[in-house]
Amino acid sequence: MSNTQISRSLYDQIMVPNYAPLNMIPVHGKGSRVWDQNDNEYLDLTGGIAVNALGHAHPELNKALMEQANKVWHVSNIYTNEPTLMLAQKLVDNTFAERVFFANSGAEANEAALKLARRVAFDNYSPEKTEIIAFYKGFHGRTFFTVTAGGQATYSDGFGPKPADITHLEYNNLTELEKAISDKTCAVILEPLQGEGGVLPIDKEFALGVRALCDKHNALMIFDEVQTGMGRTGELFAYMGLGVVPDVLTSAKSLGAGFPIAAMLTLTKFANSLTVGTHGTTFGGNPLACAVANKAFDLINDPILLEGVKQKEQLMRQLLSDLNQEFAVFEEIRGAGLLLGAVLNAQYEGRAKEFLLASAEVGLLVLVAGANVIRFAPALNISDEEIKEAMTKFKKALQAVTLK
Ligand SMILES: *Cc1c(COP(=O)(O)O)cnc(C)c1O
Repeated sequence: MSNTQISRSLYDQIMVPNYAPLNMIPVHGKGSRVWDQNDNEYLDLTGGIAVNALGHAHPELNKALMEQANKVWHVSNIYTNEPTLMLAQKLVDNTFAERVFFANSGAEANEAALKLARRVAFDNYSPEKTEIIAFYKGFHGRTFFTVTAGGQATYSDGFGPKPADITHLEYNNLTELEKAISDKTCAVILEPLQGEGGVLPIDKEFALGVRALCDKHNALMIFDEVQTGMGRTGELFAYMGLGVVPDVLTSAKSLGAGFPIAAMLTLTKFANSLTVGTHGTTFGGNPLACAVANKAFDLINDPILLEGVKQKEQLMRQLLSDLNQEFAVFEEIRGAGLLLGAVLNAQYEGRAKEFLLASAEVGLLVLVAGANVIRFAPALNISDEEIKEAMTKFKKALQAVTLK
């Protein structure tokens, strides 16, 4: 099955060294299992970082991909195409949105959202209304605009002059926001649960407060649901569980369940500012991506699957807290749905990566979110049996690290 000519060491010779991949190379997968070049089996609680919402090699997604592959792959924006319109219709019918813009990655969807906010302010208020408020530990992608909006300056330092007029505040601190926001603010961008920043949930009061302050100052409230969207928290989108409706929402990761696609959703009154020629992308709304995302949408927007996510969250929490009784490594388990973080306690502070590596050793794939949080983002259709099996493996990893 695997190509033995290709080895991990080649990575270090010819790839730009901006990642540090594990030593094993996954070569195929099925559901929540993957196999490496040596046919070692792993249980996958990473979901490709909250992307493979329906696991690997899902037969219906494969079918949708192959059917579209035999029709047309790409047509460009000189034309529209059926899969794009079908998917946009589903997004509009099932969310607050009236308008959709497709892109290829979370960063690009957020880039579009930020540009939209600047343009709406320019068109309707004043050329000085350019301030974007964002939050520390937030993550919005790696284009220069979005990474500067992100809450870790180290990710945007050293690349020359940064996009200007972005203010960072403490997440969940409404008093700070109240002081900072003004009529010069054109947008507040935030995640309804900070994923990369440590699986940190939003306070409902804060979310409601952001909404009210955005209304007061005519600023767009942008919910970055790139990680939390498409069923991840047990709702189709996390805003639905918060009772707070944003003006703009971005989705990517699980939207294509493994095929690259992203979307920016908004209302007509805002969308009108992106007139012909103001923004665009070659691949966004590509028929292949949209065909897969259409099928993924139907499978994820299913009350039984979404309810299952909430039940599996309870099972994961229970098993993790049982393990914690035995090993005393976690300070808390936090997150929502199948986006959970096990926060290490003071004794194990900064050692999340060790737990990730020890897990891989015993055939379990997990994520980290910073140095202190072990993150789990499995496929939404993972079975209870697989969760139990995964936690039995995780126990071995905990043993290995705590014995050190
Ligand atoms: C992953 C992520 C992004 C960036 O998405 P890319 O597809 O990597 O550009 C943006 N926002 C959030 C919340 C994310 O989790």
